[in-house]
Amino acid sequence: MRVFNFAAGPAALPLEVLEQARDEMTDWRGSGMSVMEISHRSKPFIDVAEQAEADLRELLAIPGNYRVLFMQGGATGQFAAIPMNLAPAGSSVDYLNTGAWSKKAIGEARHYCNVNIAADAAGSNYTTVPARGEWKLTPGAAYLHYTPNETIGGVEFAFVPQVDAPLVADMSSTILSRPIDVSRFGLIYAGAQKNIGPSGLCVVIVREELIGQARAGTPSVWNYKAVADDGSMLNTPPTFAWYFAGLVFKWLKRHGGLAAMAERNRAKAQLLYATIDQSGFYRNPVDPACRSWMNVPFILPDAALDKAFLAGADSAGLMNLKGHRLVGGMRASLYNATSIEAVRALSEFMLEFARRHG
Ligand code: PMP
Repeated sequence: MRVFNFAAGPAALPLEVLEQARDEMTDWRGSGMSVMEISHRSKPFIDVAEQAEADLRELLAIPGNYRVLFMQGGATGQFAAIPMNLAPAGSSVDYLNTGAWSKKAIGEARHYCNVNIAADAAGSNYTTVPARGEWKLTPGAAYLHYTPNETIGGVEFAFVPQVDAPLVADMSSTILSRPIDVSRFGLIYAGAQKNIGPSGLCVVIVREELIGQARAGTPSVWNYKAVADDGSMLNTPPTFAWYFAGLVFKWLKRHGGLAAMAERNRAKAQLLYATIDQSGFYRNPVDPACRSWMNVPFILPDAALDKAFLAGADSAGLMNLKGHRLVGGMRASLYNATSIEAVRALSEFMLEFARRHG
């Protein structure tokens, strides 16, 4: 029995893809082995890796002057890799602070360069995106880093910042949820465990001209140029995660690509926010202009009801709705693999719970 899974990450994966991986588990493509049991340097695995990159390029329409890297260490590894590769010693970089993940990225970058907080949403308790006109950008900054979607706070940018410095975006919880214009970005990175596949993989999409100037002492596994030159196989990659990501990319293509995902994701988010807003019971604290399509936090009128809500949800097969420990309350994550039926079931449960406890 499959439940409706609203986990923030690792998160729900498409059932079709799980079933395919299951069917191929012990005898992959007639090899008599699983894909996990073959060399990453074998021709069959190189084909898997190259096909995954080609499909990702097609889905996101990645221009030819961008390199796609399949790395390890998660998005957290990139918090350090980005300054190591893009910010020469002594340089300054700009960061927008819009929540818990921005903050972590900032903390890591401070080990490497002068970090300017160009805009800070802490004053709003991270419920909004500071207006573009208020940002204090550094002339000559090596890059501007931001988090288009804050997974914990459920705060999302409704626009792509227009700035002079190369734009660096942590898309861990929004990549592949809709089409984007990759050419607007210097670097995009995303941990895999939400919209891409199992954890263990981090995708980096970087404009070619930005690589090759890593600071001295950058470990080779973190050096974009070294990783790119070796086809992301400088060492043993997480082969199963890469294979699985490739299956997810095929699934996305079969189901209409990112334009279709955008429509589904918009409908899912609209339904859930409408349920919250019209209930007179639940509340989403985020500025409506910055509400996330992917992560929807909401609170009940009395935290004493949280336990009953979660227990009732579990019995209804609605799982992983507990909010992040930093903000409490509830959070429903609505990544690509979460269906509109799942959101309808959640909405019905929420309205029924509100009727009983309101
Ligand atoms: N950035 C964002 C926006 C995230 O949501 C997460 C994980 N939830 C991370 C970074 C950290 O990712 P990882 O665990 O892959 O290091």
